Amino acid sequence: MKLQEDKKQKIRGWLAAMTPELTCPACRVDDWSTGDYLLGTPTISPIMSIHGDVRNDSALFRVVQIICNNCGYVMYFDATKMREEQRIIDAD
Ligand SMILES: [Zn+2]
Repeated sequence: MKLQEDKKQKIRGWLAAMTPELTCPACRVDDWSTGDYLLGTPTISPIMSIHGDVRNDSALFRVVQIICNNCGYVMYFDATKMREEQRIIDAD
């Protein structure tokens, strides 16, 4: 899902509030931008029932990409955490 500019601004505000002293672990610069897309990584967890049969329970792990403007180092933050705290990312 492509992130609109208003969402990206909210993400940057959330990041500044939650990680006020965040510097890039690679180059030590404090200059970040938000990726253009809300990314989703499918996760699959096998679950065994009491009868012994195994089924797969899949979900989507949503992350927001934060990119160092100096060196390109990338961090990922849990979009669910952002949504819970400030309703940045709408539920879908
Ligand atoms: Zn960097």
